[in-house]
This record gives sequence, structure tokens and C-alpha cells, in this order.
Amino acid sequence: MTIQDKLYLDRFNADKQSHLFIIDPDVCLNKCPEQYCTKFCPAHVYEWDDEAQKILVGYEGCVECGTCRIGCPFRNIKWLNPRGGYGVQYRQG
Ligand code: SF4
Ligand code: SF4
Repeated sequence: MTIQDKLYLDRFNADKQSHLFIIDPDVCLNKCPEQYCTKFCPAHVYEWDDEAQKILVGYEGCVECGTCRIGCPFRNIKWLNPRGGYGVQYRQG
């Protein structure tokens, strides 16, 4: 079973409000051409929007691995725990 297969089994109870925030979009635009978050997040939560010239955050699919707490070299992502009862529900580990 691949990691994608396992992720597909997980269930999500998405909150209406995000638990992930880009602190300063200008840092993404002007200081981070590599956009590391689009590569290190296993759930592809972060996506660069060419038209809007900013990172979009699909927080609903976050598997709460915590990588973005240390992965952004500019500490430009604010990571909170989802509110109680919301977030990912793991199946089969
Ligand atoms: S890695 Fe950090 S600074 Fe770079 S695009 Fe992502 S959030 Fe912005
Ligand atoms: S905690 Fe993990 S899954 Fe969630 S956004 Fe950060 S890197 Fe992606």
C-alpha cells in the first residue's frame, strides 16, 4: 500500500476556520522563489497561485504532521492545532 493509498483512507472533519496561516505573503513573493512549502507538505496543502501571486492554503487536507512548523526557512507559517473535534482522523495508522 502506497502512502497515497493510506492518505486516501483518512477522514477529515474540516473546521470552517483555518488552523494554518501565511504570516506575510510578501515574504513568499519576494524572498522565497523555491516555495519550499509546495514541496515538503505531504498533503499538498500549499499551492502557488500564479494569478493571485500568493500561496493558497488548503488547510482542510492537512494531516497535522507538523512539518511546516520547521520547514519554512522564513518561519512564515503560523501553525495551530485544529480546534477540538476537527481535523484528520487516521485509519490504519
Ligand atoms: S516556504 Fe515559507 S516563505 Fe516560502 S512560499 Fe512557503 S510559506 Fe512562503
Ligand atoms: S502540518 Fe503537515 S500536512 Fe499540515 S500543512 Fe503542515 S506540512 Fe502539510
